[in-house]
Amino acid sequence: MTITHDALTGAFRDARRQLWLVGGALRDRLLGIASKDIDYATDADPDEVEALVRGLGAHVTTVGKRFGTIGVLLRDGTNEDWSEITTFRGDSYSAGTRWPDVTFGTTIEEDLARRDFTINALAEDAFSHRTLDLFGGEADLAARLIRAVGEPVRRFEEDPLRILRGLRFASQLGFDIEPATFAGMAETAPLLATLSQERITAELDRLLQGLDPAGGLEALRACGALDVVLPELANMAGCEQNRFHRFDVWGHTVATVATIELAPGRKRLRRWTALLHDLGKPAVRHVKANGEWGFYRHETAGAELAAALLERLKLGKSDSLAIASLVRRHMDRPDPEDARSVRRFMARAPGYWRDLLALKRADNASHTYDDNAYHDALEAACERIEREEADRLRAESPLTGDDLVAMFEREPGPWIRVVKDRLSAMVLDGDLAPGDRVAAERTARKLLGRL
Ligand code: ATP
Ligand code: MG
Repeated sequence: MTITHDALTGAFRDARRQLWLVGGALRDRLLGIASKDIDYATDADPDEVEALVRGLGAHVTTVGKRFGTIGVLLRDGTNEDWSEITTFRGDSYSAGTRWPDVTFGTTIEEDLARRDFTINALAEDAFSHRTLDLFGGEADLAARLIRAVGEPVRRFEEDPLRILRGLRFASQLGFDIEPATFAGMAETAPLLATLSQERITAELDRLLQGLDPAGGLEALRACGALDVVLPELANMAGCEQNRFHRFDVWGHTVATVATIELAPGRKRLRRWTALLHDLGKPAVRHVKANGEWGFYRHETAGAELAAALLERLKLGKSDSLAIASLVRRHMDRPDPEDARSVRRFMARAPGYWRDLLALKRADNASHTYDDNAYHDALEAACERIEREEADRLRAESPLTGDDLVAMFEREPGPWIRVVKDRLSAMVLDGDLAPGDRVAAERTARKLLGRL
């Protein structure tokens, strides 16, 4: 069964053990932000914690027991969430190793001192509700500051992941980074090269989806972390553009990430797409005949660079494919008055045309000219087609590959894709009715005569 916070507190009180609310849930509650999983710290050792919660009949997980953590399913109203109860820690790090040697501490003070930032190093007594604030965490919450607990350089050397966590919290919460903490990040940024890609990617992903991704990205660049974790993006900074742009490529990229409109479930896709949409620019930049900078076909080069980068980051296949294809398409400029060209625009980004429109609008927002009227007209045309012609947009070739093989008695091969693409394009353009197999066969015969 699931138990409540009160039942848990009662059991620890009866056992004369301490129980403290710690970590992100306490921080978020003090900020007035909803937070799911509650973390607790206690002086009871993991065996005792396990016995106590099992005694309550709780759902328990022991996967983290080696690190001092027992997981327990807690009920709050109708919500159920896993909480972690961790025995006070007194980690000691051996220089150069990635994993702390876990040792158990004896006091909450020692436990809090090993935490990363002051806003994460607060504790609230579960019995008296008294807040324990040893490092000025409440003042930093009020001042909206990310500040390392203790000496920044030493703390980042112990665990360089903290550098990325700090940048991520700055973006996630919209906080500034306290100057000495920032200087420590800059001094230790090269150590980020020792972290696993999974941990780096997870933090970058969260930084990008924060409240203030522009602040987070700018801090990431300014402290030198960008050069280590995203070297592919480093030459965007200082890559100047022509008079239609307010910023260099990096500044424009940051502005695009900050302004792209969000939609439910699309934040990750849209923010990454905005970040990478001009990745091809530094590589293709050239001087045009009129003396201005040109970026001819940067969207094609960018799509390829983005695909390679996303593969290295291991961001996940389906988002990566969608991001690269949106990068490739972001310069498409259909004529809103011409339904045929609007349909092709939509069909080239199947399932993603609203994301593509959002990217185009955000891309435009930092140009020196205003293109809103064009995007409004394009959006209206897309919405009309989606409403009235959804079937046609998704229409496929009236003949399948098997049909074609049987019809022409040819070995399967690349010719099938060529014929099917042509037939589906004709359906899309309205030159072929979706189910008209006879006309489709006639077209296929003509085409194959030429192939
Ligand atoms: P969120 O859950 O939103 O990521 P959080 O602060 O709860 O934020 P967790 O990774 O869940 O982050 O960690 C819980 C707490 O453990 C943190 O608030 C912090 O006190 C401590 N902590 C986590 N990672 C580290 C670290 N690398 N170094 C020091 N303390 C850490
Ligand atoms: Mg947490």
